Amino acid sequence: MSNKQKYLEHIQSLLRNKDIPELREELAEDPLLTQIHNELKTIREITLAFSSGDFSSAIGTRGFVSGCLKTLQANLRHLIWQVQMVEKGNFSQEIHFMGAFSTAFNNMVRQLKWSLTEQLKKENSLIKSEAYFKFLANHDPLTGVYNRRSFFELAEIRLAEAASQSIPCCLALMDIDHFKKFNDTYGHLAGDEALRQIVKTIEACLRKDDFMGRYGGEEFVLFFYNVDETTSLKIVERLRKDVAEHPVYLEKGPASVCASFGVVESSAENPNDSDYIQKLLSDADSALYTAKETGRNKAIFYKKPFFSR
Ligand code: GH3
Ligand code: MG
Ligand code: MG
Repeated sequence: MSNKQKYLEHIQSLLRNKDIPELREELAEDPLLTQIHNELKTIREITLAFSSGDFSSAIGTRGFVSGCLKTLQANLRHLIWQVQMVEKGNFSQEIHFMGAFSTAFNNMVRQLKWSLTEQLKKENSLIKSEAYFKFLANHDPLTGVYNRRSFFELAEIRLAEAASQSIPCCLALMDIDHFKKFNDTYGHLAGDEALRQIVKTIEACLRKDDFMGRYGGEEFVLFFYNVDETTSLKIVERLRKDVAEHPVYLEKGPASVCASFGVVESSAENPNDSDYIQKLLSDADSALYTAKETGRNKAIFYKKPFFSR
């Protein structure tokens, strides 16, 4: 076999066979063949690494094939980085160097971004609607203050807290004076508007620890935290004045309104007793009755009957 044939067979073996053939002595003496042998060996190792997903090894050889392998390696490394960026939520990644794959990749990222944005929008509106339904369940739809149930739930909690620290609290019942007449004069819708405006006037005067609820109809209930008899009367007197001095503004013009209040102080040793709030309320109602009986547009503090003191 001629030397030339041996060279060709060796190169063919390097390109085709799984195992790297040894450069036999007689061939190893040829420097050009030795160089080709080493370069092909390096290229084999690089392509083997690529085929197993390893793009980290440095390509030390020169020439056209090595150059193409270097470009492929750089592109694949960049592609991996871009996919990792998308995985982290960076949807601005686009590929422009990989032909049809680039188009598919870019479309996929755009679709992913769109569907995640839509999902986020849905989740947000779900959270909003859940909060909205919760609000509706706990508040009076006309005036926005607590409804009766949630007012008393909160009042029970605050009363228990206050009792454990010997903090005084007061409860007031408010009833709009001659409201039937108001409705008869201005109409029911104007009556609704009046209720909204009266509530706004009262709320503007409440401290952050105090709160109010709609007891029913044109009756409201107020809770004053860390307030004793003397202070509660001052606060309620100011509320009464505010309501009486601020007309409600209706389509037909301003209309004056006033309200009566019955106030009671909590002296609970055991406010967790479920009847306790009802008892407070009944005392406030009896003070309110006195306010109505003695001329309306006034605040009366509940006094225990002499025989029960
Ligand atoms: P008083 O001074 O004794 O309280 O007289 P009043 O006319 O206010 O009597 P009462 O409290 O018994 O009447 C309440 C009236 O309030 C009856 C009802 O028509 C009216 N009312 C109750 N709820 C609403 C409401 O949501 N909107 C309107 N517009 N009116 C209401
Ligand atoms: Mg009433
Ligand atoms: Mg009334």
